[in-house]
Amino acid sequence: MSFLEATRYNVDRAAKALDLSPWQVLELNTPRRELKVELNLRRADGTYSTFVGFRVQHDNARGPMKGGLRYDPRVDPDEVNALASLMTWKTAVMGIPYGGAKGGINCDPRLLSRDELQRLTRDFTDELADFIGPKTDIPAPDMGTNAETMGWIVDQYSKYHGWSPGVITGKPISLGGSHGRTAATGRGCLFALLNVLSDRGDSIEGKSIAIQGFGNVGSWAARLMSEAGGKVVAVSDVTGGLRNPEGLDVNALCDYVDKTRGVQGFKGGEDFSGDELLTSECEILVPAAMESVITKDNAEGISATIIIEGANGPTTPEADEILRKKGVTIVPDCYANGGGVTVSYFEWVQNLQQFSWTEERVNLELRSVMDRAWADLKAQAGESEDLRLAAFKLALGRVLEATNLRR
Ligand code: NAD
Repeated sequence: MSFLEATRYNVDRAAKALDLSPWQVLELNTPRRELKVELNLRRADGTYSTFVGFRVQHDNARGPMKGGLRYDPRVDPDEVNALASLMTWKTAVMGIPYGGAKGGINCDPRLLSRDELQRLTRDFTDELADFIGPKTDIPAPDMGTNAETMGWIVDQYSKYHGWSPGVITGKPISLGGSHGRTAATGRGCLFALLNVLSDRGDSIEGKSIAIQGFGNVGSWAARLMSEAGGKVVAVSDVTGGLRNPEGLDVNALCDYVDKTRGVQGFKGGEDFSGDELLTSECEILVPAAMESVITKDNAEGISATIIIEGANGPTTPEADEILRKKGVTIVPDCYANGGGVTVSYFEWVQNLQQFSWTEERVNLELRSVMDRAWADLKAQAGESEDLRLAAFKLALGRVLEATNLRR
């Protein structure tokens, strides 16, 4: 099953549980608009390369559409469609007034110079400038993009529309970004984990944690979970895996990765093949790299009893079923990584207010949104342990309610 098919499978499953009509399901699965653009980039060596960019605007019943921009060689229309749909359900689960969208460019940002990336991003923004905006569709960072990329976009967009910091979130603070945004998705993963543990009367103290992906989400989840008392025993990224059963020194590892751009070779642990990360010995697993990595082929081998989905769509439906039968608690992406879009929402609110919140306030408000969404999710799930089904039911119900009220 492809990532898009898996996303639709989860929608269909919740729709069936809610007894929705085929017409309602069709409406929920159909994006409003799909944009494809071709970008010719003059390379530093004088040659030209053509890159394809996408923006899919899935749904805006609950507010302007919202979702990241991904720069990765695997970006294609199906992936962007799946991610845009997931954003609609995530903003609904988190209870923030947005719809869903997603976009990206099929490119390998590690093979482009900073100047090439900047020109590509500005060309992409030229093509998107009539389709995005603070009241219509607000992009943000995702895999392969960061605050600097968002800064180029706000500058380029503002050339058409006047100074418009609310067009994009995840910007540098000096261009209207929010304190706490960079760490927000990882912090949200921590809050999600704390909520699961506290419901069980348990704590994070000494819990062994394995994290796949050591970019924005993975590295912040590692830092904050270890600060909170957890023991990060294994991490991986594109360069490979690194483990230490006694716990890695996460701050030192972050400094190392800043310099080398990869976890392998760090002296405070033993290198291993990143492929084994998901099945390595741990109590808590945080997939924080990419989609469709937990499959029917490795689900049986997973030793963790709690999975916090930092990445979007990391678990295939087949693996989901195997893990549920094993009694593993899976905290689904549309709640577990919802801290990022929540602080993006706070950033947008600050931009509209032309006012800046302290980091302390941002983190407190994030905690309160995560706690409220957790309570809603648990209430929807009732006796069931299937938090993904509960999340999709909650989200579909909220989106349909808004859709019907606007007819
Ligand atoms: P990033 O580009 O900062 O980091 C991605 C990390 O994953 C890198 O360390 C990379 O080396 C690693 N990686 C890639 N392929 C891998 C593989 N096959 N095995 C192991 N590691 C691999 O991206 P990010 O922003 O941290 O996003 C990661 C995931 O989290 C994506 O699914 C994204 O959609 C999701 N997400 C991100 C945010 C956000 O605020 N950045 C918010 C919500 C969800």
